[in-house]
Amino acid sequence: MKTILKTAILFLCVTVSAQQADFKLDSTQLREIYTASLTKGKSYDWLNYLSNKIGGRLAGSEGDKKAVAWGKAELDKLGLDKVWLQPVTVPHWVRGEKEEAHIETNLGNFKVNICALGSSIATSKDGVLAEVIEVQSTEEVEELGDKVKGKIVFYNRPMPADKIETMRAYGASVGQRYNGARVAGKYGAVRAIVRSMNLKIDKYPHTGVMSYGDNADNEKIPTAAISTNGAELLSKLINEGDKIKLKFYFKQSCENLPDAQSYNVIGEIKGSEFPDEIMVVGGHLDSWDLGDGSHDDGAGIVQSMEVLRLFKELKIRPKRTLRVVLFANEENGLGGGKAYAAEAEKNNEKHIVGLESDSGGFTPRGFGFTCNDENFEHIQQWKPLFKPYNIHLFARGGGGADIGPLKKDDNVLLGLRPDSQRYFDFHHTEADVFEAVHKRELELGAATMTSMIYLFDKYGIK
Ligand SMILES: [Zn+2]
Repeated sequence: MKTILKTAILFLCVTVSAQQADFKLDSTQLREIYTASLTKGKSYDWLNYLSNKIGGRLAGSEGDKKAVAWGKAELDKLGLDKVWLQPVTVPHWVRGEKEEAHIETNLGNFKVNICALGSSIATSKDGVLAEVIEVQSTEEVEELGDKVKGKIVFYNRPMPADKIETMRAYGASVGQRYNGARVAGKYGAVRAIVRSMNLKIDKYPHTGVMSYGDNADNEKIPTAAISTNGAELLSKLINEGDKIKLKFYFKQSCENLPDAQSYNVIGEIKGSEFPDEIMVVGGHLDSWDLGDGSHDDGAGIVQSMEVLRLFKELKIRPKRTLRVVLFANEENGLGGGKAYAAEAEKNNEKHIVGLESDSGGFTPRGFGFTCNDENFEHIQQWKPLFKPYNIHLFARGGGGADIGPLKKDDNVLLGLRPDSQRYFDFHHTEADVFEAVHKRELELGAATMTSMIYLFDKYGIK
């Protein structure tokens, strides 16, 4: 009995000291990763090129083609084991001329800023002038029924300010942007305008994708987003009562062209011990057309590329296969994510980890994880390693739209969670430009992602 006890204690001591040794080694490795990213990182230079030399890159556009060629060329320079393009068929929507809008009243006209929503059809060449009805939701339109006939439906539900994570506030309001025109069109409305997805009151209209679902052609109505200051003004004038006679005018010339060809850009370092266990890091290479797509998702692209570059630079040979994927067409179709997962399924590939960065290039706070309890517990053990870098958020739930289709019962999907407070100042607007991204914040995000991948590579998943 005594011998068994002694052996057990000895075993425990060996395990504890092995764990301590690992902690020391891992701490040193993380320190090296952060130092390399902050002192000789490449993410900011890459973002400068992608934002300023290529700019907006909506699926099917010239910018999209240039971004694919750039991504491939840059990955080729890293000396990875393999770099390739995976074909993706993408929708091709173009904005056309700059949109025009104003509120026409008996007191005079007020110009407001709007932008067409992705997938929307154009107005007639002369635009449209019609009465406006303000609503808070698609459910309200369904209740109003025929009363919206011949009118412009104005969806004005703000993002709820009391949500701490702004992504949740977005989630609570974005349905009216996606479904607003579809529902209004079914009841005979002539147009739909939607309050921009923005917590601030400012001049920027925020674009984003919408869908007509299965509406018949005569139920498809043009739709646009209005800036939050425009939405506030319009609502104020509507609610003045009989004193003000009001109509809304808007004109846009966007168009849905035939599908186009794009590509996922993929680079890989083969695992030295478990090559069949694949870890993917990525973001989406496409962006909306109004700005440079620097936060959404240029930041996620260059951070993901930096993960593999830092592995190379620091001579960390991964045991498991490490892939970066610059996904095509997240914004208006998710074609890239779907094509990647379908190909993985076809080739019987085993993706143990998927990490996405698509929440802006702000100061990293941690990660959101979608995984089973066992893995969530396993990952929590690494939390102390991140303490020196102020990375504290290890939350449940998260990942990313592009990696979503890779979900399996036993794998781990996670998303980098940067501070979210300023994201919707820029998201899908002309303000999403290179200058809006802070160099250190971007680099800290890249280092945080690399560190997490280093730990997944070393310890695997449960
Ligand atoms: Zn995005």
